[in-house]
Amino acid sequence: MAYLHLLGTGAALSDPHRTTTMLAVESEHSLVLIDCGGDLAQRVFSVGAHLERLSALLITHSHPDHVSGFPLFMEKLWLFGREQPLQVCGIPSAIDQARRSFEAFDTSGWAGMPEIRWCEVLSEAGAAVWSDESFVITAAPGTHGVPVTALRIEDRAGGGVVTYSADTEPSDAVVRLATGSDILVHEATGRFAGHSDAGQAAEVASRAGVGRLLLVHLPPAERLGPAGILVATERFEHTEEGVEGGSYSF
Ligand SMILES: [Zn+2]
Ligand SMILES: [Zn+2]
Repeated sequence: MAYLHLLGTGAALSDPHRTTTMLAVESEHSLVLIDCGGDLAQRVFSVGAHLERLSALLITHSHPDHVSGFPLFMEKLWLFGREQPLQVCGIPSAIDQARRSFEAFDTSGWAGMPEIRWCEVLSEAGAAVWSDESFVITAAPGTHGVPVTALRIEDRAGGGVVTYSADTEPSDAVVRLATGSDILVHEATGRFAGHSDAGQAAEVASRAGVGRLLLVHLPPAERLGPAGILVATERFEHTEEGVEGGSYSF
C-alpha cells in the first residue's frame, strides 16, 4: 500500500492553517518529497511520515513557494543524521534555483553534510523523473509564468497512480499525464494567467477520467468561496478540498 501525504495545501498566500503546497508519496521502502516552499521536514514529521526512508526530493519549478525552503531542509536533514546523498530532481530552472538558494549559505564547516546529487529532468511529455523499487515517476510540462513540470507517480507494487498538476493553467499535457489516475492533485489558486480555479481543475479531472480530485494550492477561503467548490463538484463529482496534513492511500 502506498500513501500520498498532503504536507501543505495552500497557495503562496493562503489561510492561516495552510502552508505552501508540498506533497509526499510513501511506501514501506521509499519516501519521495515534492516541493519545499516551507518547513518541509516539520511537515513530514507532522504527518508521521518516515524521513529515514527519503529517496528523493522533486522540485516542480523555481517559484519561492515551491523551492525557498530548500536550504532549511538540508540543515534539518544534516541534524537528523542523514549520511546518504540526497537526489534532488527537477527541470534545470528549478534545480538551479535550489542550488543558488543553498549556495547563499556557507555550510563548509558543517561536517557530514549529506551530498546533494542534482538530477535534471527534461521538459517534455513522458520525461523520466525518478524511479526506485517503489515508484516510477514521469513528467509533462504545464503552463505557468515560468517552466513547470507536472508529475505522475505510479506505485510499482499495487499499480496505483497519483498525478500532481503543480502550478498551471488548465493544460492538455496535464490531462494526458493524469489519464486514468486514481488521484489527481490539482491546483486551484484562481482563474488567472498561469493558474486554474476549482471549476477548471474539475474539468481537467473529468477529461482525464481520474478517480478522485484533491484541490491544493488553495487561496484564502474568502477568495475561493463555497461557490468555487460547488461549481467544481457539479463538473466532477469526486472533488474534495485537500486536507492540510491529510494522508490518502492509492
Ligand atoms: Zn508558481
Ligand atoms: Zn505556487
